[in-house]
Amino acid sequence: MKYRDVRKALLAQGCQSKPGKGDHEKWYCPCGQHIAVVTRGGTLSAGVVGDTIKKLACLPKGWLT
Ligand SMILES: [Zn+2]
Repeated sequence: MKYRDVRKALLAQGCQSKPGKGDHEKWYCPCGQHIAVVTRGGTLSAGVVGDTIKKLACLPKGWLT
């Protein structure tokens, strides 16, 4: 999955990003209790995508497909 598509979906859900270490980006969900770390740019592996969905547990099912 492309980073820009993941980013678009995160923004559509009202998530906010903050810079992390190196090329990492921290994404905060709207409820403020869930954080996911995503690598900026390129393509994200299925593992990272699955982890992002799991970590941002309060987002509606199917928000990232
Ligand atoms: Zn949350």
